[in-house]
Amino acid sequence: MVCVKLMSTSLTGLVFDIQRCSLHDGPGIRTTVFLKGCQLNCQWCHNPESIAFGPELFYTAEDCIDCLACVAACQFGAQQAGANGTHGFDHARCTACGACVAVCPVNALKLVGTPMTVEAVMAQVERDRDFYRRSGGGGTLSGGEPMMQFAFTRALLSAAKEAGIHTALETNGAAPWEHYAELLPLVDLVLFDFKATDSAIHRQLTGMGNERILENLERLYRAGKPIVLRCPLVPGINDDAGHLRGIAAVSQRYPQLSGIEVMAYHNLGTAKSVRLGATAPLPGLPSATPDQRSRWIETLHALGCAKAQLS
Ligand code: SF4
Ligand code: SF4
Repeated sequence: MVCVKLMSTSLTGLVFDIQRCSLHDGPGIRTTVFLKGCQLNCQWCHNPESIAFGPELFYTAEDCIDCLACVAACQFGAQQAGANGTHGFDHARCTACGACVAVCPVNALKLVGTPMTVEAVMAQVERDRDFYRRSGGGGTLSGGEPMMQFAFTRALLSAAKEAGIHTALETNGAAPWEHYAELLPLVDLVLFDFKATDSAIHRQLTGMGNERILENLERLYRAGKPIVLRCPLVPGINDDAGHLRGIAAVSQRYPQLSGIEVMAYHNLGTAKSVRLGATAPLPGLPSATPDQRSRWIETLHALGCAKAQLS
């Protein structure tokens, strides 16, 4: 028994962020653990650094002071000195070994994706135990898609449960049902994404149809699991009347949903894509305005979706 516990707490996962005092990822004050890797590729993703399964290098050109310290540190020729003494960076050559990060004096280089054991993550999560107790909060697993690191996710949830910490799982719903079924006793609340009503549009926007996602939603609901439906809305992309009606239809089909949250698009992902050396899929699209947000909520309420609120 002890061996099994040791094995699960020493399991390692790839974490790209841990946010303490989060107020938007479930009830109360929470610590949200973000895992790397996602099987979808949503056009509006505000965490593009979460999608790839391995570590990646963030390079913030605006912060670079051209000291060239990183050039000597890089064995792969990704960090380069230009003819005029300025710094250049070739993302395609970077293996994300991390050697350059420590020598950069201004933190213009940052490795995204740190291997961490369950024990190390829990040590951070447990720091705010008093806040959880007073606010009804806990820990949330997010990503990326946490189900893509299933063994690590299961071990983390299990450790949190054992520590008496409320657990929330944010998921895109696309993992095999057997995995969700296995986690049912370990998850107190599911934050379940609903991105497009029509499967062909869902595929076009995320890279995958939504049949399995809707089936998993149905099964989680029938299993009596508390679910908050999370609906990212992006102006001109998926905020059409048909999808708003689709959200309302889901709310009527599942009247016991714990909540329906509209996640209004913001364009923070664009700058992050540039730092990763990728092209932002929605370049120039501004964040949703307060008017657009209010209109979505008013429309959803008018369609009978009384629980809809902004996240
Ligand atoms: S992470 Fe490694 S390969 Fe990438 S630029 Fe830095 S030193 Fe070079
Ligand atoms: S070490 Fe940092 S500041 Fe210096 S050239 Fe490299 S990226 Fe720029």
